[in-house]
Amino acid sequence: MSAREEVTIFDLVKTLTELPGPVGHEDAVQDWLAAHWGRFAQEVRRTRVDNVLARVGGSGRRLLILGHADEICLLVKSVTDGGFLHLAPYYADTLGHAPRWFMPASQPALVLTAGGHVEGIIATASGHVVGGRNSKKEQLEWNDLFVDLGVRSRAEVEDLGVHPGCRVIWNPPTRRLGKRGIVGKAMDDRVALAIATLAGERLTGRDDLPYEVWLASTIQEENGLIGASSLVDELSFDLCINLEVGLTGDIPGPDERDFPARLGAGPTLVYKDNSCHYSRRLTDRLVALARERGIPVQQAIFQNFGSDGAEMIRRGVETALLAYPTRYTHSAIELVDEDDLMACVELIVAFATTAADR
Ligand SMILES: [Zn+2]
Repeated sequence: MSAREEVTIFDLVKTLTELPGPVGHEDAVQDWLAAHWGRFAQEVRRTRVDNVLARVGGSGRRLLILGHADEICLLVKSVTDGGFLHLAPYYADTLGHAPRWFMPASQPALVLTAGGHVEGIIATASGHVVGGRNSKKEQLEWNDLFVDLGVRSRAEVEDLGVHPGCRVIWNPPTRRLGKRGIVGKAMDDRVALAIATLAGERLTGRDDLPYEVWLASTIQEENGLIGASSLVDELSFDLCINLEVGLTGDIPGPDERDFPARLGAGPTLVYKDNSCHYSRRLTDRLVALARERGIPVQQAIFQNFGSDGAEMIRRGVETALLAYPTRYTHSAIELVDEDDLMACVELIVAFATTAADR
């Protein structure tokens, strides 16, 4: 075994996705990255709003590899006398109920407190006790959902440090599915951070980098690109490759005319989504480089999608969106393919080691 055996992408994805990092409480993810990136980076910075930045090395124009730490979540809205937690979503809700694709019920839950975590389950009353009443409603309303912590009173909830404002995440373990699949929560966007970490490790110690290469992990992407909006106040960047989940149409339901990308067919370079048009020049360069190196890539535009990349462009950084195909986005069973992830690592390493004037 060599002195610096590379950790596998599965191990990195499992570690990072299983960390709790809901919107506004990303501490565990940022702590892990600051410590882990600190093992190989020349410098690690943590900003006042808790973005993490690491300088991998090299000199020249600044190239940023970017992902976000936060995962979608619920928040405790109130606590009943019996000790149940009522919930509100992380986003600005106007429907009064969860949309069809957001299905928190019947998942293991983790409630984050100032002192640690409390396990529970996200529940709703079953047909045995509410009969046909609930089935008349088209959709569960937020107040039909609650967290059961296995306690009997509000006082016991308070003793656990749980109060309105605490974040709640669904909390399944990350596991393999089939030969190449990895399934679990928070693939959005911890897989990006796993890819960035692996690419950073591979670029470390190379004295031929034509860029000054940085990694960054932002907070609060899911509720409006909040962390990314101040990143360039910490440090200016010339180029950014933003890593995100990629939408696929290769399952029953979506129309492949709208979503032609497929799981396992390589990373997707995204030209445009609902938040911005990405740098055509940088995107085309990544596509050309991938083809030259025999790395499979797909090209797409995404609907119903946005990313930190829009904020980087707004702040003057030339940005491309490199997306790893992901099925069932924003669910507890986000599914990615190991080959797509390694292709992202290869493409980033190829880009960061190839001079721009080629
Ligand atoms: Zn994301």
